[in-house]
Amino acid sequence: MSVVPRTLASMSYADLRELQSALNTASDIAFSLDAAAPAPHEADQLLDALRRALTAANALGAGMGATGCAEHPRGPVDPLYGDKDDPLPQGWGRCLLCNDRRRRAGAQRRGWR
Ligand SMILES: [Zn+2]
Repeated sequence: MSVVPRTLASMSYADLRELQSALNTASDIAFSLDAAAPAPHEADQLLDALRRALTAANALGAGMGATGCAEHPRGPVDPLYGDKDDPLPQGWGRCLLCNDRRRRAGAQRRGWR
């Protein structure tokens, strides 16, 4: 195995490998399809491979990931982010993990439990 640390770069590399493998699978299926009688499961497999490719390509393009957080680039996005009715405090980002940490810290400061 490689000794490269799990940095952002190596994570992108994993996405790239995933993209290549998904595209390979998709093209294998596409070129083996019988146009006269495509089997339903082949279409499903093709869709599945294309979805994997799309997800990996999105991850590559996102760079920092959806959260924009350096610590949790692949973490979940806070569902309250961008919510007009229940806005997040000023300065909070999209990262759910960081926002939860802020919520816990705020609750402890106020003596909530
Ligand atoms: Zn975070």
